[in-house]
Amino acid sequence: MQRFKHYIDGKFEEGTEHFESLNPATGLPWAIFPAATEAEVNQAVEAADRALFNGEWAEMSATQRGKLLRKLGDLISEHAAELGELETNDSGKLAKETRSQTGYVADYYLYYAGLADKIQGDVIPIDKPNMHVFTTREPIGVVAAVVPWNAQMFLAATKIAPALAAGNTVVVKASEQAPAAMLKFAELIHAAGFPAGVVNIITGFGEPCGRVLTSHPKVARVAFTGGPETARHIIKNTSNNFAHVSLELGGKSPLIVFDDADLEGAVNGIIAGNYGASGQSCVAGSRVFIQSGIYDQVLAKIKERAAQIVIGDPLDDSTQVGPLATTAQLERAERVIANSVQQGATLVCGGKRPDHLDAGLYFEPTLLACPDQSIESVRTEFFAPVISAMRFETEAEVIAMANDTEFGLAAGVFTENLARAHRVTKKIRAGIIYVNTYRVISPTAPFGGFKQSGGSREAGIDAIHEYTRTKTTWINTSETPMANPFVMR
Ligand code: NAD
Repeated sequence: MQRFKHYIDGKFEEGTEHFESLNPATGLPWAIFPAATEAEVNQAVEAADRALFNGEWAEMSATQRGKLLRKLGDLISEHAAELGELETNDSGKLAKETRSQTGYVADYYLYYAGLADKIQGDVIPIDKPNMHVFTTREPIGVVAAVVPWNAQMFLAATKIAPALAAGNTVVVKASEQAPAAMLKFAELIHAAGFPAGVVNIITGFGEPCGRVLTSHPKVARVAFTGGPETARHIIKNTSNNFAHVSLELGGKSPLIVFDDADLEGAVNGIIAGNYGASGQSCVAGSRVFIQSGIYDQVLAKIKERAAQIVIGDPLDDSTQVGPLATTAQLERAERVIANSVQQGATLVCGGKRPDHLDAGLYFEPTLLACPDQSIESVRTEFFAPVISAMRFETEAEVIAMANDTEFGLAAGVFTENLARAHRVTKKIRAGIIYVNTYRVISPTAPFGGFKQSGGSREAGIDAIHEYTRTKTTWINTSETPMANPFVMR
């Protein structure tokens, strides 16, 4: 069994309490992690608070912060394969995906390395004589970054990189479900030469670790990605410190295929958006709306493609769909599918564990034909390779169907009609819209949702504003001292 440590105040700490993690590909324990206690969370926040106000980091120029971030980005590129494989052992995601995703995570650090010394304020044209007024963008303070299990290196990068570029300090709480890569990543933070306490990486459970961290009086900013239920706890926790909170939550994204679409491209989008990462993606396009005239044809194509998918060992590069991350997710998928069939959905393919794999948390790529959106698989977010397909007749009808959800993270539209693409995308209430493509991301492109998917934006220049506050400075430039306020002139 591999053992991992916390990284607090520039030191690697064993921790006092521990837990084991299962490898989803074997269903067996493979690593031991420390579970942060209240005292250990407090230590991490105190270290981040000291680093914020005193010493090297507080005095460092923005250009120098950028250089450290660039060094970290380069180290991530060098270690991408190792970190990716750790994530695979812990989460069951395909190694070819975790390796390449971790390699791309380096680009997020490089992007924000470049932005560090371009964070500027303004000179305000003020309506008073003899006053020079200007704004600067200051770091917010200690950032608590709380991430889910499904793309931790990436989701942590979208928080750590802009936070550090702007001069904040960070305590990251890695998900208890797959913390290996994040804890190993601490070694790269250390090697890059960040001063002690600037980045602290711990793991543990929602209670006490997540609660104590996000409610800590010295935390000024909470950056959360995860499910809506946990987000409600985060909001309650931050009533203790009034931290500025950003929420990146779940989704039940619509993927719309019009009858003028390139069908091969559309089916590739549907497969990428639902069977990629075994469907365990916040932007999964799991409500698939297909125009009536091509409905049967598209369903047949998805079924044919699903039958060809290679399910198996995530470390094997020929595998296309790996296991789910947890037993709870697998059992939930089974329950939702059974309920949906009872409510009137037709199981076109999949819906069960594959016959040829007796160990591990594997699940077949599944297609449900659903009569309407009252079906449980259409309404609920659950992380599994499951498509809920529905038929529509008109553009107006499908826009209404697409928006009939509490979520608003992403949406996909497949059409060859440019005017239609503009009309439809404008009316869809979601933060990320893909036209004739799906599930792409970039450090330069803002990412975030509408409605209960959370309203903040990560990545892109917008994220810098999420990690800075405006400070307004007034300077009296007159030759005479400040006048007596009780004597009117
Ligand atoms: P989760 O909400 O169960 O857990 C997320 C994190 O919150 C974990 O680190 C967990 O330990 C922590 N946590 C739990 N209880 C807490 C508490 N009381 N206080 C503070 N922290 C607490 O999410 P998950 O199951 O790990 O991930 C899946 C969810 O994440 C899905 O809903 C998915 O859509 C969402 N997600 C969203 C995005 C996005 O960018 N919008 C990206 C990936 C995943």
